[in-house]
Amino acid sequence: MAGIGCHGMTTWMPTRNTQTITHMGGEGANWIGQAGFATEKHVFQNLGDGTYTHSGLLAIRAVAASGVNITYKILYNDAVAMTGGQSAESGFTVPQIASQMAAEGAKRVVIVSDEPDKYPDMSLFPRGVTTHDRKDLDLVQRELRDISGLTILIYDQTCAAEKRRRRKRGLFPDPQKRAFINDAVCEGCGDCSVKSNCVSVKPLETELGRKRVIDQSSCNKDFSCVEGFCPSFVTVHGGGLRKVSKSSVSAQDPFGGLPMPAVRPLYEPYNMLMTGIGGTGVITVGALLGMAAHLEGKGCSVLDFTGLAQKNGGVMTHVRIAPAPEDIAAVRIAAGGADLLLGFDIVGAASPVALARIEQGVTRAVINTSMTPTAAFVTDGNIDF
Ligand code: SF4
Repeated sequence: MAGIGCHGMTTWMPTRNTQTITHMGGEGANWIGQAGFATEKHVFQNLGDGTYTHSGLLAIRAVAASGVNITYKILYNDAVAMTGGQSAESGFTVPQIASQMAAEGAKRVVIVSDEPDKYPDMSLFPRGVTTHDRKDLDLVQRELRDISGLTILIYDQTCAAEKRRRRKRGLFPDPQKRAFINDAVCEGCGDCSVKSNCVSVKPLETELGRKRVIDQSSCNKDFSCVEGFCPSFVTVHGGGLRKVSKSSVSAQDPFGGLPMPAVRPLYEPYNMLMTGIGGTGVITVGALLGMAAHLEGKGCSVLDFTGLAQKNGGVMTHVRIAPAPEDIAAVRIAAGGADLLLGFDIVGAASPVALARIEQGVTRAVINTSMTPTAAFVTDGNIDF
């Protein structure tokens, strides 16, 4: 069962058999009522460490008191990942959470991790707690499934997106290793996407059909894509990515010879809709335009829709600029009301919600025609963007 957090996205993946979602802090409590009427004898409940700290602990207490058969999978990913990687408020460690769970009456507590040896001193944990490699996750789950009452699996692995960010800031160890796919060998079977479930495995369109490429800028160096025993993979140890030299960029400046455009007089609100995905700069450009309008003494509103931006999801920003603040009565651009559509990502620009805001003969559009695969490519390698 799902709850509030990135893991809730699994409810959109039919192959995962993850069902129902609750409000934050209700995770698993619905099973107290359902268990007596269901043919299933046991369920797994996902719960992030941020939600655990916020209020999920209380749901676990209620479930423990009820006596239903349930295993909480507490994802200790070391960040409130969905909203930008903030720290979970309590700063609880894995041994502390394990101790809390034992005190709440858990029948068994296990730790599963990508680094199973990271706790050499098990005296930090309550008696009976064991650690396991993530390769054994399925085996461990099968064992917990057959234990009556409350059981706890703490999955200890730093959020992949957060690892990548911290590495860029020099705050996390950066393995001197990179994975590449030799497209001359790749047959495009898609097994690397299945093995890794990773959005950095991207399509590479060739005259011999769709193959795969690893996006080096978004790769979080988890290397689970390599686990499929595919001869296409090449790992480079100790090398680095070639940097584009600044001189070659300025020599090819595509905007170098353009004249300054005529500034359009502003008599009424001018409406700009921007669409993209997380990381394409939609929020940044909206903020820059908004601040620029503010500094010029104009009226301005900026409305951001970020949703799942942290996980390559869609982002949309409505920017309205008017002669004076009182000229703007609503911050959302109405249907057919966009004067300009800036499409940072073509899939987002062509989405029904964006198209509903454009009007023939009114809206002008500037679209980035580069195809960025959607997250659906992970589960459907033949998807037609
Ligand atoms: S597993 Fe990935 S890299 Fe290997 S052949 Fe299949 S698609 Fe290509």
